[in-house]
Amino acid sequence: MTTPVMTTSGTTLAVLRETSAGEQRVAQVPETVRKLVERGFRVNVERGAGAAASIDDAEYEKAGARVAPDAEAALRDARVVLKVQSPSDAEARRLPAGSLLVAFLAPGPESRLLGQLARGNVDALAMENVPRTTRAQALDALSSQATVAGYKAVLLGASLCPRLLPMLTTAAGTLTPAKVLILGAGVAGLQAIATARRLGAVVSAFDVRPAVREQVQSLGAQFVEAPALGAEAEAAGGYAAELSEARQRQVLEAIAGQLPSMDLVITTAQVRGGPAPRLITAKMLRRMKPGAVVIDLAAESGGNCELTTPGEAVREAGVTLLGPTNLASTVPLHASLMYAKNQLALLGLIAKDGAVKLDLSDDIVAAMLVVHGGTVRS
Ligand code: NAD
Repeated sequence: MTTPVMTTSGTTLAVLRETSAGEQRVAQVPETVRKLVERGFRVNVERGAGAAASIDDAEYEKAGARVAPDAEAALRDARVVLKVQSPSDAEARRLPAGSLLVAFLAPGPESRLLGQLARGNVDALAMENVPRTTRAQALDALSSQATVAGYKAVLLGASLCPRLLPMLTTAAGTLTPAKVLILGAGVAGLQAIATARRLGAVVSAFDVRPAVREQVQSLGAQFVEAPALGAEAEAAGGYAAELSEARQRQVLEAIAGQLPSMDLVITTAQVRGGPAPRLITAKMLRRMKPGAVVIDLAAESGGNCELTTPGEAVREAGVTLLGPTNLASTVPLHASLMYAKNQLALLGLIAKDGAVKLDLSDDIVAAMLVVHGGTVRS
């Protein structure tokens, strides 16, 4: 069988300013632009693209980029367009035919954008679709951004807590440490555990995947036991599987037993391809301490708490519940740096001999390529 190899001619990359509401990240930073220029790419950066992440146009110029006055100028001769968020309809219409878009694209059957890209003959690689393999780790933007979100969730929660997190012994007496519970100990959850530990809290965590127990304990947190969750809790690729109703009830009971003593709870649980599992019901929330804080990082996929409203703060029986969306964007410089390195690694994979080549026999390219040759593939 011959291996189909598709080529996008030319090596100009365009980095566009993000225009989605609240988005502060940028797809490339000067450090990665310098590496791209060294590899022979020409890099156009739209004026002001890094401003919200505290990166000046002059820094991009110093790294070897050409700063273009607007998106249209940045896109001139561009063969690859690097973004964080999906383009708007109007932005997608401007993308040059024959170019390749790389961004978070929320691919799925309901996506109008992918059809629009296909009609405009724009190929697209979705950053969400990076497979969870060792070889793909350097490209994994979901993980890099989840790391930032897990860290920031703890800071956000700590800032709302009516008490300090660490134990303090002072002339004014001794303060006991706050108790923090992390639900879901994947990438975001493990970072949340590490951050809460650094702030001196007493941390415990729960996850349905039994394999996580050791990782939780190695970070100095206690693992909350739920009865007999075995291999059925783990799906392919290291993701969690959806639980049966009986198992889900046992999980809720285990969590309900922990909540009343907690000062801060960070929930991060996700099941790939489905809604976020419900881990805190309204009744469970109302039984928490007055002043307790819950940060629901799964707000965008339906929430781990029954009362979560994405992007809003809810006050219920003295408990503050936040459902922040796009927390990574609130730490834009480092989130952008990590994302830019993910895209740099991707370009290392798809750019050979001075041109971008999409090798469809490569499992990473095959998984990420959602639009190709005028056809939607996902
Ligand atoms: P995720 O965002 O899909 O889910 C977050 C966590 O929620 C997971 O740990 C999951 O087990 C947990 N969860 C799901 N349902 C739950 C429930 N009912 N109760 C409690 N917890 C529940 O997952 P993630 O953070 O992206 O990563 C999950 C795993 O995949 C981790 O072990 C991670 O190390 C691994 N991973 C591997 C690679 C790679 O090899 N390239 C990349 C990324 C992640």
